[in-house]
Amino acid sequence: MGGEYDIENIVSIIKVQNLRKVYRVGKEKVVALDNINIEIKKGEICCILGTSGSGKSTLLNLLAGLEKPTRGDIIINKSKINKLSEKKLAVFRQKYIGFVFQSYNLIPTLTAEENVALPLVFRRIGKRKRAKMSREMLGFVGLGDRVKHKPTQMSGGQQQRAGIARAFVSKPAVVFADEPTGNLDSKTTIEVMRLMVKMAKDHNLTLVIVTHDRDIAAYADRIIQLMDGNVIADFMPEHKIEDENIENTKSTEDTENKDNTESNEDLGEILI
Ligand code: ADP
Ligand code: MG
Repeated sequence: MGGEYDIENIVSIIKVQNLRKVYRVGKEKVVALDNINIEIKKGEICCILGTSGSGKSTLLNLLAGLEKPTRGDIIINKSKINKLSEKKLAVFRQKYIGFVFQSYNLIPTLTAEENVALPLVFRRIGKRKRAKMSREMLGFVGLGDRVKHKPTQMSGGQQQRAGIARAFVSKPAVVFADEPTGNLDSKTTIEVMRLMVKMAKDHNLTLVIVTHDRDIAAYADRIIQLMDGNVIADFMPEHKIEDENIENTKSTEDTENKDNTESNEDLGEILI
C-alpha cells in the first residue's frame, strides 16, 4: 500500500491544502494566511492559538465556508467546499456546520428558545419538535429557566450558553468557535469551555476553537499555533484539562453582565 493519503479512508474530517488568503485594501496587499496545511480528525477538539492579527479568524471563516480562499483547498467531510456554489455552500453549512461567535450573535427579537430552534428550521423539522429540541438543549446548557428570555434579558454568559445551544442543537459534524469566551469573565469562561468540550465529546463532534489565550487552549486535544498567517507549531497541551470534571455545567448564577457593544463585524450574517 503506502503512497497517497486516501481521503476516502481516513478519519480526518477537515483537510486544508496550500491555503492562502490575501486581502486587498486599496493598493495594499494583506497576506492574512500565507500557506496553511492541516488536517483535523473527527471528534478532535482543536484549538487555533495565536496573537491578534495572526490569521485565526480568517482561517476559521474559510474553514466554515464564510469566505473564499485566494488559493488552496478546504475539504470537509469529503466536500471541497471552496469549489461549491454559494447555494450549495449555504446548504452544506446548514447541514454540517455550527458556529459560536465571540459576540453571541443571537437574534435580539427572538427568545432563547426561538434562537436555538432556528438551525432546525433548515432541517425541515416540524415546529413542535423544534421547540422541544430547543428546550432540551437549553436545559442541557443550564438555561431551562430562561427559554422565554430575549438576549437583552440575559447575561453575557447566558447568551453565550444559548449561542452554544444553537450551534450544537442540530448535531453538526463540526462546530467552529471564534474567541467564544472573549467577552466573558474568568469564571464564566471556565463554564463555557467545559460546556463546549462536554457537548463535543458526548456527541463525538469535531470542535475547532480560535483563541489568543493559552489557558483556553488547555481544554483542547491539540493546539495549532499560527503566526503571520502560517502554522508555527502543532502540539498537544502540556497540562490538558481533562473532561472528567466536566460534569456539572449548570451555572452558579452569572455575576457578570458585560456590556456587549462589540460589533458583529466578523461575519455579515447570522450563521447557524
Ligand atoms: P486574528 O483573528 O488572528 O486576530 P485575522 O484573521 O482577523 O486575525 O486577521 C489577519 C490579518 O488579516 C490581519 O492583518 C488583518 O488586519 C487582516 N484582515 C482580516 N480581515 C480583513 C479584511 N476583511 N480586509 C483586509 N484585511 C483583513
Ligand atoms: Mg480574530
